[in-house]
Order: sequence, then structure tokens, then C-alpha cells
Amino acid sequence: MNYYIESIARLINELSRLPGIGGKTAQRLAFHIIDLPKDRVMDLTKAIIKAREGIRYCSVCCNLTDRDPCVVCSSHNRDQSLICVVKDPRDVVAMEKLQDYKGVYHVLHGSISPMEGIGPDDIRIKELVQRVNSDQVKEVIMATNPDVEGEATAVYISRLLKPMGIKVTRIAHGIPVGGDLEYADQVTLSKALEGRREM
Ligand SMILES: [Zn+2]
Repeated sequence: MNYYIESIARLINELSRLPGIGGKTAQRLAFHIIDLPKDRVMDLTKAIIKAREGIRYCSVCCNLTDRDPCVVCSSHNRDQSLICVVKDPRDVVAMEKLQDYKGVYHVLHGSISPMEGIGPDDIRIKELVQRVNSDQVKEVIMATNPDVEGEATAVYISRLLKPMGIKVTRIAHGIPVGGDLEYADQVTLSKALEGRREM
């Protein structure tokens, strides 16, 4: 038997589908939302809809953006000849926090993982190759995670780009093996970027 009114059960169910939200948390959040003044609930709903509707992928770097090209790709203060390749948009946030990276990005939206059935065509590699082909790119920094999938992805891409005469570098292993770029502290990530070596 269901202990909840259908609309509450539905809210709990939707919330529990979010990452990191278990059944108990979903239940707590649902009752919290129900207790909120109606205008707060409207603000929350509007923020979710606006974020979802207003955000798309940058046609250049594939990062999330509310304008196309994104602020980084359209900036004259960024070195457009230097591309840092990362797994997902959260890695761009981690890199931007360093405040000393002046190049641009390319977001793959995943890693090559034969175990999970993710091949090169399932992530944004084709877009990167096209970009390198048409732009004045001098160096591509592979900043994928230092785990098996991240390494495989970096090697795969470097084999595609090097014959095109592009310098391909890999960030140093200041980041622990199996670690996540997103969670690396700023000093470690900064050192890893500084100590990058040619692949
Ligand atoms: Zn962009």
C-alpha cells in the first residue's frame, strides 16, 4: 500500500531520481518543499525551468552555455590556439577556479569506456578534430581524468591529432591515479597543468 498522497509520492519519486538523493533525502526534501511558501516554490520551479531551457551546448567547445559561442570561446583575452580537453563541464569550473589558465576548452561529455559500451563516436571527439582542422590551434592539453578511461581517451585523441601536426600534451600526474579532476585541490591542479608533458 502507498502511504503517500499520489502527488507527494510523485514528487518524492522525481526527487529520488536526482544524483546523490536517496529515498530518505527525497522524502525530506519533498516535505520541505510542501512546507515552503508558494512563491518560494514558484521561484524554485522557475529557476529549474530557466536553467534547463536557457542552457545549451556551445557550438565551438561543447561546454554548457546560455549564449553561443560561450563567453570563453568568444573572449579576446583567451588564447584560442590552446585547447584544454576535459571530460565534463564540472572540470571546466575546476580549471577556471585556478584563474591562471588562459586558453580555451573542449568538453567531451564522457570518456571512452569499452566496459560501459562508450566508444569514440559517443563523445565529442569528432567536434574536437573538426575544430583543430579549421582553427589555428597550436597545442591541445589532455586534461581527462587520470583513470583507465581518461588515459585511454587521452591516448586515442592524441593519436588522431598528432598526425595533424598538433602538439598534444598530457597534464602531469599530480592528480592521484583514479582521481577526479573536479575534486583536485587548486594547487595540485595548477601544478599538474604546469608540469604537462608532450604525448
Ligand atoms: Zn565555447
